[in-house]
Amino acid sequence: MMQIEQIDTVPEHERALADLLAGRYPDERGRYGAFGGRYVPETLIPAHERLERGARRWLADAEFQSELDQQLRDWVGRPTPISPAPHLSKRWGAQVWLKREDLAHTGAHKINNALGQALLARRLGARRVVAETGAGQHGVASAAACARVGLPCTVYMGEVDMARQAPNVGRMKLLGATVVAVASGDRTLRAAIDEALRDWVSDPTSSYYLLGSAVGAHPYPYIVRELQAIIGREARAQMLEHAGALPDLVVACVGGGSNAIGLFHAFLGDRSVAMLGVEAGGRGAGLGDNAATLVYGHPGVLHGSYSMLLQDRHGQIQETHSISAGLDYPGVGPEHALLASIGRVRYEAASDDEALAAVKECCECEGILPAIESAHALAGARRWAASHPGTRILVGVSGRGDKDMLTLTQSLLAPLASALKEAQP
Ligand SMILES: *Cc1c(COP(=O)(O)O)cnc(C)c1O
Repeated sequence: MMQIEQIDTVPEHERALADLLAGRYPDERGRYGAFGGRYVPETLIPAHERLERGARRWLADAEFQSELDQQLRDWVGRPTPISPAPHLSKRWGAQVWLKREDLAHTGAHKINNALGQALLARRLGARRVVAETGAGQHGVASAAACARVGLPCTVYMGEVDMARQAPNVGRMKLLGATVVAVASGDRTLRAAIDEALRDWVSDPTSSYYLLGSAVGAHPYPYIVRELQAIIGREARAQMLEHAGALPDLVVACVGGGSNAIGLFHAFLGDRSVAMLGVEAGGRGAGLGDNAATLVYGHPGVLHGSYSMLLQDRHGQIQETHSISAGLDYPGVGPEHALLASIGRVRYEAASDDEALAAVKECCECEGILPAIESAHALAGARRWAASHPGTRILVGVSGRGDKDMLTLTQSLLAPLASALKEAQP
């Protein structure tokens, strides 16, 4: 009797974690517990179903995997190293390790997904690839991967973003992609996604839609997680080899959630390993001042998936703000919504100012210029170290900060220059 009662009172989240570890998510409806699914117009259902069948088949195929592994090694430069961070360790009073996705080809983790999906597109018989991009990083990774794999690539990008991210537009064009300016809607990422989907649905058998984060309708969150999980598999083995133990904490920044789910996945079953996802806290907690979806959001449907969202009382999607373009998105992948709801991963926000301070500290202490996105993870790690002295912390450095020089010049270097001028007698 006692025992039956105990089983019956096993908390719901323990069962969800067991299901997760047994590989039961996404389930046959594309769900992660209550989250995920496929909320798309009727016209897009067959294309998603075909993609799901293709992904399940090829991602489990030994020959596909060996082709992917070879390209990841020879072209992307994997495995990326983990670097001990001796100076940050000393300042924070912890043992800090950095997983260096900034050293991957094109400068961030996004290439793992873009390459994998480009290879998948070819196996599925696609003759062209369609992608969307906001800040341009996913567009660049897609253009590079398509060039490598030998598929033409069309990238949809909002006019506003094209003006803000001109260097990335040039990179995409050099890499052979066609960049289509989107003048409809908000003329940023959301409108670009709509246009890319419209293109895909007009010819879903010969074109392939290459989505850039662990978001969207099933099977995209699953495909992206599978392709990014190499980050955590490598990092876990590297920690055991170089640190001689697993980390006490694993930290990553969360925009749509692809680098974080990729880093976290291999550690989910390690009960001793705590996990922290850090979202963009922007200017603060007010509506429109941040992009911290799991911290401040509510459940709802965006871009084909039921997950957490930044929305107002009437369900209208909120404008977001973050100093880092890559985190500036009102949604988040459904698997993170599940991990948050069962408490396996803790999610916090780091502000623009905390991220900028972390960029500076990482540059000066370790000689590494991180992306402002990645600096949110560093800021979260620093905070955790203050209350957990002496622990081992693994931080995902999702990308390098060279792309952020315009922002960094305005926010870190210009104030420094004017302060120096004022200090002159
Ligand atoms: C795009 C990007 C991110 C955010 O995307 P996720 O899907 O949340 O990983 C984080 N860091 C860098 C460097 C990026 O380019």
